[in-house]
Amino acid sequence: MTPNVRDRADRPSRAAPCHDAIPEISWDRAVRLIGGAEEVALACHVTPDGDALGSMLAVGFVLRSMGKRIVASFGDRHFAVPRLLRFLPGQDMLVPPEEFPPVPGLVITFDASTPERLGLLRDNAARAREVIVVDHHPSNESFGTLGLVDSTAAATAMLAEQLVYRLGGRLDRDIATCLYAGLVTDTGSFRYPSTTPAVHQMAARLVATGLRTDEIARELWDRSPFGYLKVLASALERVRLEDGLVWTYVTRVDRAAYGLPYAELEGIIDIVRRTDEAEVAVVLKEDDHGDWQVSTRSKGAVDVGTVCSVLGGGGHHNAAGYTSHDGVVETMARFRRELAKVRRRSSGAV
Ligand code: 5GP
Ligand code: MN
Repeated sequence: MTPNVRDRADRPSRAAPCHDAIPEISWDRAVRLIGGAEEVALACHVTPDGDALGSMLAVGFVLRSMGKRIVASFGDRHFAVPRLLRFLPGQDMLVPPEEFPPVPGLVITFDASTPERLGLLRDNAARAREVIVVDHHPSNESFGTLGLVDSTAAATAMLAEQLVYRLGGRLDRDIATCLYAGLVTDTGSFRYPSTTPAVHQMAARLVATGLRTDEIARELWDRSPFGYLKVLASALERVRLEDGLVWTYVTRVDRAAYGLPYAELEGIIDIVRRTDEAEVAVVLKEDDHGDWQVSTRSKGAVDVGTVCSVLGGGGHHNAAGYTSHDGVVETMARFRRELAKVRRRSSGAV
């Protein structure tokens, strides 16, 4: 049965930690701003993951049911929904960044910690009259005109769920599928320490709509083109372990040999980071323009979010990233230098 969100029993408790940090006055203002807008432009971070795209589409469904004109987009130079996320409902809401309103009245951003994460849509958002920022990154820079930011939330999807309810929306299977994709992505399938009781309670509300958790898991993690295995093999062939750091890289030439899109590389870090001997894992992924996206993971002792912030990116304590315009050798040299500083600081603090 579809939970009716107007029914108090189905609403998360006011004390739920997932939104403690956001004052009521901010939620009220968000609801008022959205209520007063005829058109709402939604944006999530570039090369969206399940949390960014899922949160955006879930809110998009509700806005559409409220009779709003909406556009939803993300600012990649080559606009394409990552294959892993094409199963998400609501793709018809998406437009390429060129079709995003140049001077929007109201923009809502999802899972973006800085304006830079909006890529090509950064300037559109800068020109908007109002920008509501829905995010859970501790590194969030408080951009926009209204922040719905809670770094204790395991996923932006938790805040998006709140927004759905507060707009008077109800969970249906489509909205729940989008939110669930965000929740499972950002909690590593309920494995990361961010997996609080509130996360499982939210999952229960979503699953109660009848969504297929098995199909979602398969779409997200259990399928890939054959070329992925070959590219993964190259990455693992050159993997290195040095002083608690395990790292490797994937070039665009590796991918070109199998026509493998950049977005297919997302899961490689999850294989590399399992290394027992390493506390930090890094995968450098060359995009189609020759820039390197650096994915980093920590088992907890080191704050890779700090390391990546210093290097121009951001993220969380245990998962963070940044873009490097240097080559592999130089990128890793800089990363090691900053990692050493953060390690020294954290061992000094003990
Ligand atoms: P991933 O390695 O999966 O691409 O990213 C891990 C985490 O780091 C995500 O939470 C993501 O939002 C953040 N992140 C990755 N790349 C960047 C970046 O270039 N800038 C910022 N600010 N955060 C990033
Ligand atoms: Mn997220």
